[in-house]
Amino acid sequence: MAVDLDSKDFILGVTGAGAMGRGIVQVAAAGGLAVRLYDVNSDQTKDALQFIERMLGRTAEKGQMSADDAAAAVGRVAGIEEAKDFAPCGIVIEAATENPEIKRKIYAELEAIVAEDAIIATNTSSLSVTTLASGLDHPERFVGMHFFNPVPLMRLVEVIDGVLTPPEIGDTLMELGRRMTREPVRVKDAPGFLVNQVGRGYNIEAAHMYGECIAGTVDLDRILQDAAGFRMGPFTLLDLTALDVTHPATELIYEQFYHEPRYRPSPILRARMEAGMLGRKVGRGFYEYPDGKQAMPEEKAPPPAPDGRKVWISPAEDEGHVALLEVVEKIGASLDRAKKPGKDSIILVTPIGDDVTTAAVKQELDPTRTLGVDTVMGLESRRTLATNPATTREARDAAHGMLAGDGVPVTVIRDGPGFVCQRIISTICNIGCQIAQYGIAAPEDIDKAVVLGLNYPSGPLTFGDTVGPKKILRILEAMYRIYGDPRYRPCPWLRRRAELGLSLFTEEV
Ligand code: NAD
Repeated sequence: MAVDLDSKDFILGVTGAGAMGRGIVQVAAAGGLAVRLYDVNSDQTKDALQFIERMLGRTAEKGQMSADDAAAAVGRVAGIEEAKDFAPCGIVIEAATENPEIKRKIYAELEAIVAEDAIIATNTSSLSVTTLASGLDHPERFVGMHFFNPVPLMRLVEVIDGVLTPPEIGDTLMELGRRMTREPVRVKDAPGFLVNQVGRGYNIEAAHMYGECIAGTVDLDRILQDAAGFRMGPFTLLDLTALDVTHPATELIYEQFYHEPRYRPSPILRARMEAGMLGRKVGRGFYEYPDGKQAMPEEKAPPPAPDGRKVWISPAEDEGHVALLEVVEKIGASLDRAKKPGKDSIILVTPIGDDVTTAAVKQELDPTRTLGVDTVMGLESRRTLATNPATTREARDAAHGMLAGDGVPVTVIRDGPGFVCQRIISTICNIGCQIAQYGIAAPEDIDKAVVLGLNYPSGPLTFGDTVGPKKILRILEAMYRIYGDPRYRPCPWLRRRAELGLSLFTEEV
C-alpha cells in the first residue's frame, strides 16, 4: 500500500535535529503535517523543539502566520527519545551528520522499525542516493529529499530518484514538498544533484581567473555583482559558506564524476583551506572581518581622463561597436572615425570570447594601445576593461580615465578569454546545458532550481537565451581554443540549439 499523505494518521519522521532537521520539522509543521523528531543526542532534540517554537512564534509576530496557526503548528511537533517511536511514520527524512557509516546504521535501524511500505528519504548534500540505498533491504523505498539552508527561507527542495526508486515514490515526495510549502524539483541522482553542480561554475571559474592573475578577488566580486547582477560576488560567497565546506564538496563532486574537467577544483582553494583562511566564520578568508563585518577595500579613483586623445572603436563586432560608441559619445570623448586607427588613438575592441591579444592580432591593431571592453552584460553599472601583455601603462590609464568619464566605475583586468562576465555566464550556461543533456532535470526545473537555490539573477538556460546561444557557443569555443582545456568544450545540447537558432529550453521530441 502506498503512503497516503491525506490520511489523518500520516506522520512524518525526521531523524537528526541539527541545523537542517529542525528547519525541515518547522516547515512540515507549518504546512499542517504531524511530525516526530529524533536525535541521537537528546539535548539536541530538546534544543531543536525550543528553537522551532521560537521560530514559529517569530513567524506569527511578523504577521506571516496567525498566532493560532503557529500554536497549532507547534502542537503538531513531537520530540521522541527513541527511534522505535518512528514506527507509525509513513515517511522518515534522515537529516543526520554527513557520514555514510552513520547514515547506513540509521537506515538499518529504521527498516526494522517502520512499515514495509514506508519511505526513507535522505537530506544528504553530497552522497549518492543510489549508493546509500544499496545498503537497505528495500532500496526501492529510498529517495533523496535535499533541502537548502536555512530551510524556512530557502523554498527549493530537490527530490532525487535513485536508480532503483520507482516514480511513485518521487511523486509522493514532490507532493510532500508542496505540502511543506516548498518548491520541489525532480532530479535524477548525479554528483552534486542539480544546484550544487551549477554552483561549481560560479565559484570555481572565478577561482581559476584569480589563479591566473586576470583580476583580484575584490575586482572579480565587484564585476560579477555590479555588471552581471549576482547578489554576492564569488569570493564573498566562498567566505560565507566557508572553504572547509565548499572545497571538500567540490573535490567530492569531481571524484564522483571521474575527473570531469568541468568540475575541476582550484588548487588555490585547497591551499587557502589548509592555511585556515576559511572565511567569515573564522574572521579571515578572502576578506577580513573586523567586528564580524566584511571589510570591503575602498575603490581607487580612476586616473584623469586624457585631454583630447582620440578613441577608435573596432567595428569587428557590430553589437559591441554600437554599444561602446554610444557610451563614448555620451562621455564626450573625441572619436577617431577613420577606417584604421590614427597614430595616437586609444584602440578599443569588444571581442566575444576571444582575448584582447587574439582580437588585436586578428585585426592587425597596434597592441600597445589596444584594450578590450566587455559589452555583453551592458555598460551601465560597471565596465570591464582588459589590457593585453603589450599594452602600455599610459594607454591603460588613458583608456581607464576616458571610460570612467561619466562616473560609471571601471575595473581594469588582465587579458583572458571572455573577460569575466562572458566567461562566468557561459560556464554556468554550459553546465546547465550538460544537466539538460543528461536528463538530470527538465530545462524549466534547471532554471527554477538555480534561481531558488543559488539566488542567481537568472537560471543557466535563461542566461544563455538572454545573451544568445550563438554568442555563448562562440565564447566557449574561444575559451576551449585558447586554453586547450576540455573544461570549456561546449556541451552538445548547447551547440545543437545554437547552430539551429533555437532556445536552450527546446526539448527534442
Ligand atoms: P548538523 O551537524 O547541524 O546536525 C546533524 C545532527 O545529526 C546532529 O544533531 C547529530 O546529533 C545528529 N545525529 C548524528 N548521528 C545520529 C543518529 N545516529 N541518529 C539521529 N541523529 C544523529 O548537520 P546539518 O547541517 O543539519 O546536516 C544534516 C544533513 O543535511 C547532512 O546530510 C548534510 O549534508 C545535509 N545538508 C546540510 C546543509 C547545510 O547547509 N547545513 C544543506 C543541505 C543538506
